[in-house]
Amino acid sequence: MTDAGAEMHALVKRLYPLCRSITGDGVRRTLEIIGESVPLEIHEVPTGTEVLDWNVPREWNIRDAYIKDSQGKRVVDFADSNLHVVGYSVPVSATMTLDELRGHLHTLPEQPDLIPYRTSYYRETWGFCLRADTLAELPDERYEVLIDSTLADGHLTYGEYVVPGRTSEEVLVSCHVCHPSLANDNLAGVAVAVSLARRLAATEPRFTYRFLFAPGTIGSITWLARNLMRGSELDAARADRIRHGLVLACAGDSGALTYKRSRRGDAEIDRAVAHVLRSSGRDHTLVDFSPYGYDERQFCSPGFDLPVGSLTRTPYAGYPEYHTSADNPDFVSPEAMADTLSTCWEVTRVLERNRPYVNQSPYGEPQLGRRGLYGSLGGRSDTEQTQMAMLWVLNLSDGSHTLLDIAERSGLPFAVVADVAQALHTAHLIRE
Ligand code: ZN
Repeated sequence: MTDAGAEMHALVKRLYPLCRSITGDGVRRTLEIIGESVPLEIHEVPTGTEVLDWNVPREWNIRDAYIKDSQGKRVVDFADSNLHVVGYSVPVSATMTLDELRGHLHTLPEQPDLIPYRTSYYRETWGFCLRADTLAELPDERYEVLIDSTLADGHLTYGEYVVPGRTSEEVLVSCHVCHPSLANDNLAGVAVAVSLARRLAATEPRFTYRFLFAPGTIGSITWLARNLMRGSELDAARADRIRHGLVLACAGDSGALTYKRSRRGDAEIDRAVAHVLRSSGRDHTLVDFSPYGYDERQFCSPGFDLPVGSLTRTPYAGYPEYHTSADNPDFVSPEAMADTLSTCWEVTRVLERNRPYVNQSPYGEPQLGRRGLYGSLGGRSDTEQTQMAMLWVLNLSDGSHTLLDIAERSGLPFAVVADVAQALHTAHLIRE
C-alpha cells in the first residue's frame, strides 16, 4: 500500500498544475494522463446538447491572464497559479483604476495569505482571485488587465473506464475532474479511483466496474442523460443494472473517513461501507444522505434514486483549506490516500462476496467434525471466531439472509463469515 500511496501522490502532483474546468483542454489533458494508467474511453459532447434539464455549455479555454501595474510588473499572474482567474471568465483587455477593478476582485479577508477558488459557469463575467495581502499592497493607480480566454462552441469531455465483470451488473465509481489547481478536491479522489481500477482490473470480478471521470454536475448529468434515459423516459432496465455506486472526493486529507449514505439509506453499498469502517476499527463518521455535496446529488435525484453513496475523508467544505490555494499537494498525503484506497478495496471485497446461501442440512446442526470442518480452519488464535461464524452461517443461511446480514447480526468481520461460507460450500453444506 505504501507504493500505491506514493504512486497516487505522484499522480496528484502531475495533474495539479493543469487548468481544469467543466470543459476545455485542461480536462482533456487530465484524461490523457489518466489514460496512461487505465485505458479510458473519451467522450466529446457538443455544446448545446440537451442533457436532462440542462444544456452542454460553451467550451472554455485560457492561455494567459494578468494584472499589470503602471511599471508593467505582473502583480497578479495566471502563470503563478491558475486559481488567480475566475473559472469561465470571458476575455478582457482593458486599463482601469483600482476602484474600477475592485468589483472584479475576489479575496479571503479571513485567510489573507490564500487565493480563493471561484467560478462563474452560467453567468458571463470575468474576475481575478488574489491574496487579500496582495490587494492591500496595491497602490491606487491604473492597471492593465488581460484575460486571454475563449468561450466558444466546442465540447464537454469526460472519460470512462470499464473493468468487465462476470456479470453485467455494475458498480459505478465516479469522481469530478473539473477543479483546477486543487489537490484534495479532487485530484486525490481521481488518484484513488485510478488505483482502485487498476487493482480490480487484475482480478476477474463478479461485477462490472464502471469508472467515470467527469466534470462535476454537468458531467454526471450528461452521463445520466446519455446512458440512463430513452428520450424523456428512464431506461429502467439500464438503471437497474447499476447495483452499487460510490462518489469519491476529498480522499487525501488527514481527517477520518466519512461515508454519506445513498438517498435510499439502506442500500447494500450503505451497509457494506458501514461494515468495513466499523469492523476495521478506523475512526470514521457515517452521515445520512443530503441533497448537497458532489455528484451523488445527480445519481440520487428522485428519478434515478441510484444506490450511490459518497466516500470522503473530511467532507465537502469541512476544512479551512477547502477551495483555496492551501489545498495543494502538501495538503494530501500518500498514507491518507492509501487508507482511502484500502477502504474502497475492502468494500469491493464485501460486494463481490456478499450473497445468500441455503443450508442443505437444516434439521439439527450438521456434524462438522465428520466433514473435517470442526477446527479445520484452526491452529489460529481466531479459531473460536471461525467456529462461531460457521454456526451463524449454517443457522441463518435460509436463502433470505446474505453474508453481510450474518456478519452484522453476529458482529463478526465479513471476511471471516465469507471464508467460512466458502468452506461450507465446498463441503456441500450450503448452496447458492
Ligand atoms: Zn469543489
